[in-house]
Amino acid sequence: MNKLFSIFIMLFCSISLFGKETLIVGTNAEFPPFEYMEKNKIVGFDIDLINKIGEIIGKDIKISNLSFDGLLPALQAKKIDLVVAGMTVTEERKKFVDFSKDYFIATQVLILPENSTISNLNDFETNKLGTILGYTGDLLASKNKNIQKIQYNTPAMAIMDLKSGKIQGIILDSAPALGYVKNTKGLKILDINEEQEKYAIALRKGNEKLVEEINSAIDEIIKTGYYDQLVKKYFN
Ligand code: GLN
Repeated sequence: MNKLFSIFIMLFCSISLFGKETLIVGTNAEFPPFEYMEKNKIVGFDIDLINKIGEIIGKDIKISNLSFDGLLPALQAKKIDLVVAGMTVTEERKKFVDFSKDYFIATQVLILPENSTISNLNDFETNKLGTILGYTGDLLASKNKNIQKIQYNTPAMAIMDLKSGKIQGIILDSAPALGYVKNTKGLKILDINEEQEKYAIALRKGNEKLVEEINSAIDEIIKTGYYDQLVKKYFN
């Protein structure tokens, strides 16, 4: 009994000493407006969203910036607790991780030079397409083995090569693509009518309680209008 009591006291002390539980959130700050660097700080839609979720569920949030294709391995290796990275829910990813409810709908589009006559993905059988390693757009382009793909680590690097004419197009998620086209002269978007994609937060399998907490926090964020505020802040 005494032993139990001292364990209880120790636990109580450590909780009050160390405060709230911290969730380590992995992202890849190369995907504006969802996550990007601003004056050496990681900011964006996803960052505000997860900080609000942390506030609602009473947990501290610490952001860790990793490469996009390193995010799910880091989650499985318990180096991070969550992934918030504009990540699309796919059947393949679901084999390895669980997802929260979705919080954003996107599609894949092509970024092309303004004067380009390219009209669909298959035109890249005779042109060079920039893809970003591990992104859903990269996987989509891989379905046609005849497409000539050049893989980049970040969208910004692909945009540079598109401008210099090394590649003739880039496949990318719609929201970041729109941002790049807005901020770069001489580019346009081509909608290729691909299926909708849903972004959600990825968690290690077997964290049902945390999934539930996050899902109800997302509901609250939508209900209270905070979600609309974020849309206004990042999509104008
Ligand atoms: N939505 C895309 C994917 O999940 C790209 C996400 C990202 O680059 N952050 O692959």
